[in-house]
Amino acid sequence: MLHLYEGIVLKNLFGRRVIVIEQPYVYRRTELAEPDWTRFPGWAGVTRDEWESVQWQRAHCVKNIRQLREVLGGGLSEAFCADLTADQRERATMSMLVPPQMINTMAPGVAASDPAFTDAFYADPVRRYMIPVLSDRRADWPSHPYATRDSLHEAEMWAVEGLTHRYPTKVLAEVLPTCPQYCGHCTRMDLVGNPTPVITKHKFAAPREDRLGAMITYLKTTPGVRDVVVSGGDVANLPWPRLEAFVSALLDIDNIRDIRLATKALMGLPQHWLSDEVRAGMERLGATARQRGVSIAIHTHVNAAQSVTPLVARAARAMLDTGIRDVRNQGVLLRGVNDSTAALLDLSFALLDGANILPYYFYMCDMIPGSEHWRLALSEAQALQHQIMGYLPGFATPRIVCDVPYVGKRWVHQVSRYDTRLGISYWTKNYRTAVEAEDPLALRREYAYYDPIYTLPADGQQWWRDRSRDGAMAPARDAVPAGLTPARP
Ligand code: SF4
Repeated sequence: MLHLYEGIVLKNLFGRRVIVIEQPYVYRRTELAEPDWTRFPGWAGVTRDEWESVQWQRAHCVKNIRQLREVLGGGLSEAFCADLTADQRERATMSMLVPPQMINTMAPGVAASDPAFTDAFYADPVRRYMIPVLSDRRADWPSHPYATRDSLHEAEMWAVEGLTHRYPTKVLAEVLPTCPQYCGHCTRMDLVGNPTPVITKHKFAAPREDRLGAMITYLKTTPGVRDVVVSGGDVANLPWPRLEAFVSALLDIDNIRDIRLATKALMGLPQHWLSDEVRAGMERLGATARQRGVSIAIHTHVNAAQSVTPLVARAARAMLDTGIRDVRNQGVLLRGVNDSTAALLDLSFALLDGANILPYYFYMCDMIPGSEHWRLALSEAQALQHQIMGYLPGFATPRIVCDVPYVGKRWVHQVSRYDTRLGISYWTKNYRTAVEAEDPLALRREYAYYDPIYTLPADGQQWWRDRSRDGAMAPARDAVPAGLTPARP
C-alpha cells in the first residue's frame, strides 16, 4: 500500500478512501534563498564578491536614516522616515546599525521601486525589531512601570567587571560592549552600543585587557564554574587574535568544560564567520577543544525564518566543519516578529533543515524600557510552547523561557503562581547567586515577572493605572526592585 503525504492530505492511491488529516501546522521543506540585493538602488551595482566580503559588509552598514534612504532610493515614504526619526528622538534604546546582509532580508520579495514597498517594509518582521519606528510602540504603556535598564541585574552579579556569575556552575563573560548589528530590543541596552537621545550607556571602568585578565584569574580560582558563555556584545566584534587568545586561555583551565561563543553575526554578518582568518582560527580552537575533551559551541540569535539564507547556512556549515560541537539558536519571542505557531516552526525548520542550526531557546523579551509592544504575556508564551510541541524532533524543539530577574531562565510552564488579572507571575529558584549569599530566604522567596499591561483584562489594566496615578511605583527607567515579594510561609 502506498500513501502520499501532501501537506494535510493522506491519500490511498488505489482510490478506496481518502483520509484528510488537518493539522494546525503544515510542514513544507523550503529551499533557502538569498534575496536579490540589486533590487535596492544603492546596491544595484554590487557584485557577489563584494557582497560576500566581510570588509564590504562592515563598510556599508546602515547607521542612520540618510544612509537607509540612499540604499532604498525613493522606495521609503516620507511618513516612514518621520516615524523613524521620531522613534530615534523619543524612544530608541539602541542606535541604528544594520549590516547589508540583514537589510537585504527585509521585504525580500518587493522591489524598492514598487509602490507597495513602504507597506511591506513596515510589516516586515526583521524591520520590526532592527529598525523600530514610533508607531510600532505602545502609546499607552511604552514601558512597563517595572521595566529597568539591566533588567536581569547582570551587573549586580559581576564577580569581576563584565563577568556575571548568576548560576552556580556557569558564567557569562561580557568581553566587549559592541556588536556588528544593534537590535532594538537588546536586553543589554544598558551597556551595549552607542548612546541614543534618551539612553546613556554604562561604560566599563577597567581597560579591556585588565577585565579579560581578571575574568581568567577568577575562573582559574573558582573550580565550581565549568561553563562559560563568551558574549558581549557580539564576539564577532572582538579582533580575532584577541578572541582566540581568550578562548585558548579558557581551554587551559581544567574546570572549564563548555564554552559557548555568542554571536548574532553568524546570521547578521555571516561573511565574518566565513572569512579565512576566522575559519582557520576556529579550526585551531576546535582541535584543541577536542584534544582536551571540551565542548565549544556557537550560539546565535535568529528571530525570523527569512533571515536564514544560504550564506547563513554556509557560515554554520563552515563552523561545524571546524570540529566544534554545535551551532545553536537562541531567538527572542517578539510580538509582530515571530509570535505565532507558524512563525516559530517555520524558523525552527529553516534552521534545522537548511542550516544545521539547532533551535534551542526562545527567550521572552525582557522588561527593558520601550519594549512593551514586543513583549508577550506569559499565558501567550505558554500557549505557543504547547502549540509547537510534536512537530520537531525532541532534541530540536525549542524551549520558550522566561528570564526572571534575580532567578534566571525558567521554562514558561515552571511558573509557581500566576495572577492573570494583574499579569503577575511568581517564580522560585533552587540556587543562590552572590547577591543572596546572606539571604536565608532566597530559596523560599517568590520573584515576580510582569505581563504587558495592555494584554490584561479591563479591571487589571485599571489596577495598574490607579497604582501609577497614585504614585505607588517609581516611574519606568528608574531602578525599581524587580518585584521581590515576601517569602511564602
Ligand atoms: S546582537 Fe545581541 S548583544 Fe548585540 S544588540 Fe543584538 S541582542 Fe544586543
